[in-house]
Amino acid sequence: LKLNSKNLSQIASVAGAAKVRVPTYQRGPAVKEGIVHVGVGGFHRAHLAVYVHELMQKHGVTDYAICGVGLQPFDAGMRDALRSQDHLYTVIERSAKGSFANVVGSINSYLFAPDDREAVIAKMAHPDTHIVSLTITESGYYYNENTHELQSEHPDIQYDLNPANEKAPKTTFGFLYAAMVRRRQQGLNPFTVMSCDNMLKNGAITRNMLTSFARLRDPEVADWINTKGHFPNAMVDRITPQTSPADKTALAEEFGIEDSWPVVTEPFMQWVIEDHFCDGRPPFEKVGVQIVKNVQNVEQFEKHKLRLLNGSHSAIGYPGQLAGYKYVHEVMQDPLFSKFVWQMMQEEVKPLLPDIPGVSIDDYCKTLIERFSNPTIMDQLPRICLNASGKIPQFIMPSIAEAIWVTGPFRRLCFVAAAWFRYLHGVDDKGNTFAIDDPMREELQAKARAGGLSPKELLSIKSLFGDDLRSDERFLKTITEAMEDIARDGVLKTLPKYVD
Ligand code: NAD
Repeated sequence: LKLNSKNLSQIASVAGAAKVRVPTYQRGPAVKEGIVHVGVGGFHRAHLAVYVHELMQKHGVTDYAICGVGLQPFDAGMRDALRSQDHLYTVIERSAKGSFANVVGSINSYLFAPDDREAVIAKMAHPDTHIVSLTITESGYYYNENTHELQSEHPDIQYDLNPANEKAPKTTFGFLYAAMVRRRQQGLNPFTVMSCDNMLKNGAITRNMLTSFARLRDPEVADWINTKGHFPNAMVDRITPQTSPADKTALAEEFGIEDSWPVVTEPFMQWVIEDHFCDGRPPFEKVGVQIVKNVQNVEQFEKHKLRLLNGSHSAIGYPGQLAGYKYVHEVMQDPLFSKFVWQMMQEEVKPLLPDIPGVSIDDYCKTLIERFSNPTIMDQLPRICLNASGKIPQFIMPSIAEAIWVTGPFRRLCFVAAAWFRYLHGVDDKGNTFAIDDPMREELQAKARAGGLSPKELLSIKSLFGDDLRSDERFLKTITEAMEDIARDGVLKTLPKYVD
């Protein structure tokens, strides 16, 4: 059955409530869209949209439905998929226990910016909009990791800074700024800008980037946003692979649902967010969101997650791809790899992490190994490898820098960075080529080629690595050795050196 509003009750009765749940709440013009979400990809549809769905389904919330927004030309596919099925879609939860399908209805409408940029600005500026949330990937923030400043010279930002383009911006900050200007003129509060991207201090970075952008346009608006606007920091977690054609077929065969773009994910989900909203918020705590008062608490959760989960993803991704694996669980089935990941977490990352009352880091690491080993979600290595220039400097390099500072071990972390440097050549250990998806690909590949077996060329990219590491002899020696070993022997033969 084609997924749409008309077929919902039939879909539920065909598959049975034990296997499929469908929304029974009101949708469409009767509900208010209190959240505008930029970047409706897999993760948003498996995470925030599911929390909002639970609020609508179980707690009668009617004023925080979501209006999805796509800014990129490639979002046309999401526009068409959602439109064709009344913005409904299926979240398929998979684990060793089996599969479960949850039809989600919290996305009430969708705006595709290239079709109508003004409509997006007007929607964000609308009095019913209280929150603008983001999953725009790390590169969507135009954040310089080294200076912590906005990449104001970037052509996209330059385009949006030109007053002539104010009504037709391209970047997230161009839209947020234009909408904030209107809200200020209308005497409204700013909306809360809620980042759900994987970045340490994601809220603070969003505040900093938006106010920097605004300052270059109109310092008064920048001050208004900075004083009145709220940007909660958050830790978000749910492993969500890219949907494959096989997922669609399996959904049709197992559940009888024809969905042009379902989402596959794991049962686990977590969201820890700072209670910092300037224009109201839904009662997220009712659906299991951890709302915390203290900014430092969020930062501690974020640090645990980014350094352990995302850091381990990098440890699985770049060496795994060089070794010729395709999926995360395949890498974890190799006992040497799973030991490597465990030992990196336990011996090199854990000693650098803060204690959080009530949280056991050992239990967290054990759960991660189980989640990475889940063979049913088929998480692809190219997905966890993409946009590495936004990942390695956040998930791996800070642990190395801190380990150097406290004279702790960092050999395994260096192996991961060395594997990424090798990966940049785009050829695996068997000589097969693969594509590299990274906004800095050209520069990175040119430096990787120029550097050969030395890390120095790559490490000279200041926006990624800063100055300090390049002059640390112990670090240079360790990473160079790992690069030489991987180049000479390949990952699988080198790995035993890094596993006790
Ligand atoms: P995806 O490829 O399915 O979707 C990416 C979305 O980001 C698309 O809607 C795209 O339009 C938007 N986007 C990309 N670049 C943009 C830009 N410059 N400006 C505005 N929008 C832009 O990816 P996903 O799996 O949904 O992941 C998105 C982000 O979610 C990740 O980068 C990460 O920060 C966060 N996240 C993902 C997972 C996961 O397991 N997939 C887990 C935790 C957090």
